[in-house]
Amino acid sequence: MRDDAPNSWESRADRYSLYGFTDLPTIHDRGAVVITHGEGPYVVDVHNRRYLDANSGLWNMVAGFDHPGLIAAAKAQYDRFPAYHAFFGRMSDQTVMLSEKLIEVSPFESGKVFYTNSGSEANDTMVKILWFLNGAEGNPQRRKIITRVNSYHGVTAVSASMTGKPYNSVFGLPLPGFIHVGCPHYWRFGKDGETEEQFTARMAKELEATIIMEGPDTIAGFFAEPVMGAGGVIPPSKGYFQAIQPILKKYGIPLISDEVICGFGRTGNTWGCETYDFVPDAIISSKVLTAGYFPMGAVILGDDLAARVQAAAEAIEEFPHGFTASGHPVGCAIALKAIDVVMNEGLAENVRTLTPLFEAGMKRLAENPNIGEWRGKGLMGALEAVKDKATKTPFDASLSVSERIANACTDAGLICRPLGQAIVLCPPFILTEAQMDEMFGKLESALKKVFAEVA
Ligand SMILES: *Cc1c(COP(=O)(O)O)cnc(C)c1O
Repeated sequence: MRDDAPNSWESRADRYSLYGFTDLPTIHDRGAVVITHGEGPYVVDVHNRRYLDANSGLWNMVAGFDHPGLIAAAKAQYDRFPAYHAFFGRMSDQTVMLSEKLIEVSPFESGKVFYTNSGSEANDTMVKILWFLNGAEGNPQRRKIITRVNSYHGVTAVSASMTGKPYNSVFGLPLPGFIHVGCPHYWRFGKDGETEEQFTARMAKELEATIIMEGPDTIAGFFAEPVMGAGGVIPPSKGYFQAIQPILKKYGIPLISDEVICGFGRTGNTWGCETYDFVPDAIISSKVLTAGYFPMGAVILGDDLAARVQAAAEAIEEFPHGFTASGHPVGCAIALKAIDVVMNEGLAENVRTLTPLFEAGMKRLAENPNIGEWRGKGLMGALEAVKDKATKTPFDASLSVSERIANACTDAGLICRPLGQAIVLCPPFILTEAQMDEMFGKLESALKKVFAEVA
């Protein structure tokens, strides 16, 4: 499979590139897929093989890999003003305009926006904002952060501490003061005989018990993805946000919606919080914000938090935080165009059009005796592989079932992602119905092939 010549792309990738979040046995066996360019929702590798990327790159490249409007917006801004910062009271005109746009499309009446280079940094920044304003308000002990098991909030030391995945223990994380409550995945964590409503009530009760045990006045914030993404595409159980928000309100704990994946259309609305009918205190955005065409994240503060951080900053005459490339003019110009492309050029509408077909395709594949459940929302979904459907027993981990399925898909020209024992699909918003058929057809063949090998 892999070309082992010393100057092959596979060998060269191995030699000096440290692979992140990559299954090394797969790399040793098959080599890296080295990509040169893209065409719509397809990417093309150095061997001129084409792959339908059913993961939109990493959830973000929803307009495909060669969108003329986005490329033109980037080129135009590089011609006009290719770089600047947002320190010392200076910022680009594009930055001013993007902040206006983000507040306009947000669920907030007004607010403030702060820019980062990534989603991780946006979560980090949000935590620092909470620490900053609590300190200024005379509550320096209010520092703990609550997130959920299986959540994904990033990889910096703070955002990795928020991420509720076991792999962070190899870094000695989480840091102290980062607390993880239960994952609202009813199919996996619901008890025998427990209804979904009872399960949600149990999750809410557990959250309140945790808050009381930790001390309500020590907790700075609660962060949640509307649909957990990298945790395995886990939509909340029925009524989850309606059950937890009053508890957070009762103890004065801000609810921060990490919309890095859900934001800008993925769940069928502009925001995931819209889909699940709650209004958070702040929104974390990245990924689709620039359709992946520039590294950028944003913290979008609602009215209350914006006023509080402003007051805290006034007291010491500045907010001492920022990245060199915060509010980069090219990133902002691309984000303005990406928001327009998603919201006004038919992409968001296509998500809504495709969703019933996507759900039908997922349902059909979930009839396979080795698929325990399909789950998802809008144009994101997962198929959970199981050894035994009735008992929900997973396959032996040593079989690497999901990696094998993903590799079989790659061989057939389809990129999809193994996550635990699930296969994740989150195709670009520009997908056509024919491309959706191609995606499900190739995945179905891969499932049949691999389950025949391991069952
Ligand atoms: C990807 C992701 C992040 C981290 O964003 P990076 O740009 O990779 O740092 C944070 N939160 C969620 C929900 C994500 O999906």
